[in-house]
Amino acid sequence: MARLILKDGKEKSLLRRHPWVFSGAVERVDGAPESGGTVEVRSKQGQFLGRAAYSPQSRIVARVWTVDERESIGADFFRERLRQATALRDRLLSPGAEHAVRLVHAESDGLPGIVVDRYARTLVVQLSSAGAYHWRDTLIEQLAELMPGHAIFERSDADVLSLEGLAPAVGLRRGSIGSTQFEENGFRFRADPQHGHKTGFYLDQRDNRLLARSLAAGREALDCFCYSGGFTLSMLAGGAASVLAVDSSADSLHAAQLHIEENRLPSTQFLEADVFQTLRKLRDQARQFDLIVLDPPKFAPTAALAERAARGYKDINLYAFKLLRRGGNLLTFSCSGGISPDLFQKIVAGAALDAGVHAQIVRRLCAAADHPVALNFPEGDYLKGLWVAT
Ligand code: SAH
Repeated sequence: MARLILKDGKEKSLLRRHPWVFSGAVERVDGAPESGGTVEVRSKQGQFLGRAAYSPQSRIVARVWTVDERESIGADFFRERLRQATALRDRLLSPGAEHAVRLVHAESDGLPGIVVDRYARTLVVQLSSAGAYHWRDTLIEQLAELMPGHAIFERSDADVLSLEGLAPAVGLRRGSIGSTQFEENGFRFRADPQHGHKTGFYLDQRDNRLLARSLAAGREALDCFCYSGGFTLSMLAGGAASVLAVDSSADSLHAAQLHIEENRLPSTQFLEADVFQTLRKLRDQARQFDLIVLDPPKFAPTAALAERAARGYKDINLYAFKLLRRGGNLLTFSCSGGISPDLFQKIVAGAALDAGVHAQIVRRLCAAADHPVALNFPEGDYLKGLWVAT
C-alpha cells in the first residue's frame, strides 16, 4: 500500500485523532496512490498513524478512515461504520419511518466526506471528498442493504467539490423516488432532493424551530432567510400575531407557501427580496418586531473567507437589533465552518454595541442530535446560534 510519510513533528494532530492531513505536513509519498485510494499515514519515525483516503488535489491531502492498524478499508469497514451511525440515531431519536433524520454526519461519524439524510423512504447521499467518491458504489450497496426498501438519490454537488478536483454527481442510484414528504415536530414537509438546497431540507434546525415556536405566542415575528419555511411554520403554529418571511429565492418561498397550506396554518406575508436590503428598508419604515430569526446561508465555507463573512454577519445582526423591540428575542445563527462559536459571539456582541442595545445570551444553540460533533473533530460544530434577549 502507498504511504504518506509526514514531516517531523507533524504527527501530533493525528495522534489526537484529528482526521485531516494537510499537504504541508507531508514529507513524501511512497508509491503512486490514485485519487481517493487508501494510503497508510506514517510519522517520520515510521509510526503507523492511520489509513486514509488520498486526495492529491486538495489542501487536505488525506482524510483518515481508521487509526486501527488491524482494520482494512473495504465493504466490511463501510458496513460497520454505517451501521454504527444509524444505530446512534435509533438510540438518540428513535425516528419513525415517516420522519427525516441525518443518518451520517461525515467526519463526526468516522466517514469523512459522506453525508446521508433520510427523508421518510428516500436516502439522499452527499459525497464531497475524493475518498468518498472512490468508494461510491460500495457505500451505496451497503446503504441499500442496511436500509432496505429505500430509494437512494445522490446529491454530490457541494461547492467544496472543486477544492477536491471532483465533478458534481447527481442522480438516482437505487429504487424510485416516491413522496419525500416527512414529518418534523408534528408538521408535514417535503424535501426536494433534486433541486432543493444541500440534500433538500435543513434538518439541523429541528430543535431550534421548536424554540422559536415556544417564543412566538402573540408576537410580531420576522424570519430572515426562510427557505422552505421551517421557522415560519413553527412561529405561526406557536401563535405569532404575524410572521414576515423573507428569502431571495422564489422557489423557496413557493415551497414555504405550500408547506403552510398543507399544514393548514394561517397564511402569512412573504417577501422575495435580499435580506440585507430588506432590513434597511424595514428600519427606514420604523418597523419593529418581537422575535427575529436570522439563519443565513454559509457566508464563509473556509477560514480564509472569514473576514468578509464576519462583515456580513455583523451587518444583519446590527439591523436585527435595531428592529427588535425591547423585551424581544433574537435567534441568530451561523453555519459557516470558517466562523468559530467564539468569533460568532464577538460579532453579535459588536452588532449589539453598535446598535446601542443591551442584550443577553439566554442560551447557546447548536444543531440537532442527529448532527453529533466528534470530540476529535471540532470543525463538525458548524452550526452555532445564540438566543439573545433584549
Ligand atoms: N432558515 C431556513 C434555512 C436557510 S438557508 C430553514 O430553516 O430551513 C438560507 C436561505 O437564504 C436560502 O433559502 C437562500 O435562498 C436564502 N438567501 C441567500 N442569500 C440571501 C439574501 N441575500 N437575501 C435573502 N435570502 C437569501
